Amino acid sequence: MTEKSLIEEKFRDIEYNLKTINEEIAEAAIKSGRKPEDIDFMAVTKTVDEMYINHAIDCGITLIGENKVQEMLRKKPNLKLDGVKKNLIGHLQSNKASQIVGEVDMIESVDSLKIAKEIGKQSVKKGITTDILLEVNIGREESKTGFMPEEVEENLYQIAEIEGIRVCGLMTIPPICENNTKLCNFFENIYNMYVDIDSKIIDNVYMKILSMGMSGDYTQAILCGSNHVRIGSKIFGPRIY
Ligand SMILES: *Cc1c(COP(=O)(O)O)cnc(C)c1O
Repeated sequence: MTEKSLIEEKFRDIEYNLKTINEEIAEAAIKSGRKPEDIDFMAVTKTVDEMYINHAIDCGITLIGENKVQEMLRKKPNLKLDGVKKNLIGHLQSNKASQIVGEVDMIESVDSLKIAKEIGKQSVKKGITTDILLEVNIGREESKTGFMPEEVEENLYQIAEIEGIRVCGLMTIPPICENNTKLCNFFENIYNMYVDIDSKIIDNVYMKILSMGMSGDYTQAILCGSNHVRIGSKIFGPRIY
């Protein structure tokens, strides 16, 4: 096949995948007593070429996520971002905060008080408020970043005080589970935490977004209360690093 026809084939795959995912999101939303439009559908674009990201945008994607500051900044000028939100979803180092603050709509991966303070400081410098989510290490895994579940509340009160940021919800990546019952337990734990925090009505804390669910588990995540799914490989195919 020629390169052109390979690209066209990949475009068709992306269209088909987006259609399928949208249908599944809608079905899970309705099953869980909500509307399809209550669920944010993020296309995770790490390692994906701008041409394919733009195609996903042409097909209706209005939210994208990148893991790395450098990759986000490099791709941004080549993307058709009119009406499209872009969030950072990967671990952020303090020394990169100044580069990303003001360049994204939300930082979903705030995993320490230190980074929250740095984002706040850089936001104040730029005269903006940055929306953030707190990342929770719901499975208490060594290999993952995020606050331990029992640390969330204590940190939340301190983070809420920081000028220049606005806490908009929680984000998590669950452990790999051998069955849906175990997976749902993790999802439900964080959902309960989300509802509990919301009920406390803390100044500067708005529990609006519960970001959970990826290619392998977004239906389950929505059924357990997620309203914001982050999907990469199911749209664009396996990642080549
Ligand atoms: C890569 C990534 C995703 C998407 O993963 P897929 O399994 O490809 O859908 C979602 N969230 C985060 C934080 C990621 O790093």
